[in-house]
Amino acid sequence: MYVKLRNCTIVEASSGQQSLVDIGISDGVVDSIGEVSDSRADKTIEVGKRFVSPAWVDLHTHVYELGTSLGVDADAIGMRSGVGVFVDAGSAGAGNFAGFREHVIKRAGVKIFSFLNIGYGGIPFFGIKGGSQASELSKIEVADPDACMECARLNKKYVVGIKVRLSAKANGEFGSAPLKIAKKCAKALGLPVMLHIGNPPPPVDELVGLLERGDILTHSFRPFPNSILDTDGVGRVSKVLKAARRRGVLIDIGHGNGSFSYNTAEAALADGFLPDTISTDIHALSLESPVHDLPCTMTKLLNLGMSAEQVLLAVTHNPAAAIGRPDLGRIQKGKRADLVVSEVATTRTRLSDSTGEERTFSKVFRPLIRVRSSEVSRIPWRAPPP
Ligand SMILES: [Zn+2]
Repeated sequence: MYVKLRNCTIVEASSGQQSLVDIGISDGVVDSIGEVSDSRADKTIEVGKRFVSPAWVDLHTHVYELGTSLGVDADAIGMRSGVGVFVDAGSAGAGNFAGFREHVIKRAGVKIFSFLNIGYGGIPFFGIKGGSQASELSKIEVADPDACMECARLNKKYVVGIKVRLSAKANGEFGSAPLKIAKKCAKALGLPVMLHIGNPPPPVDELVGLLERGDILTHSFRPFPNSILDTDGVGRVSKVLKAARRRGVLIDIGHGNGSFSYNTAEAALADGFLPDTISTDIHALSLESPVHDLPCTMTKLLNLGMSAEQVLLAVTHNPAAAIGRPDLGRIQKGKRADLVVSEVATTRTRLSDSTGEERTFSKVFRPLIRVRSSEVSRIPWRAPPP
């Protein structure tokens, strides 16, 4: 079976520029990127110069479904949103990773990787009635470096980094100590840390100062307090954050329930401070609203000023590189096809940020078709109505 995708716009990671190609898929494997003669094709799909990219990578999700109160169904979400790779951000720690691996990761149709929580039990309960949170670090000993490193080594195939959550409600009393433990483990393993910031303490500047090349700051465009902006959540991006980016720290969105503000995003983009990766922090409490899914988060950044090319690289090449799997972020000859056809469509939609501010947007980033091996299917995605 030979499938030809005709007139595909692909975005080159090296230049950020578009090029127009045909893609040939022979028995499910990418056979040609360039020109494909019609005579070879059993089936031709006219893509009409829309974007074709690898299936999208969501760098911050919570998909330990049924094992934690936050977990959502990765396969169901992937099917309707064009996401083919879910990176779980610390739902499991060394104490419950085996369950995540056996009951979820190995059974999923989509690919799932994990930032292993430095806390032994991961994030088992969240969103207890009354808004209180159960901290995954009830005492500092729960951040057990030996257990974390052993689990990561035994599960190399799936563990792509170490997650640490630091905020007033989560475990503010420990200051930066959990991050220091996570960094020690990550360095020994040769993996990055993903750092969650929330309400202070600890202050974002103190934490970001400890991050190094390849480490990921998630919730980067969160609202005041502890925003990345200079003062009171307005103005320019702080010097500490700019220095972190210069030394190679990656800036991730991690939208979630409380961590994405239109005002912060606008100020950062106006200052030329673009995110490296666009991710949802999709979980049981953010799924309905304000997150919905990755295309909605992409739509927000697109309307706030990122180009379509920048948005696409932030859900393909960049997050794939961040987890040490650059192969998952590019279309490659000889590799099994897992592709998404998408477009920027002129449609009105009304979307809320994490502070409850609603905006009406005129463009949406719409996933249209998924091509997995030789199987071509329509993606049943719809923008939330205005
Ligand atoms: Zn999260």
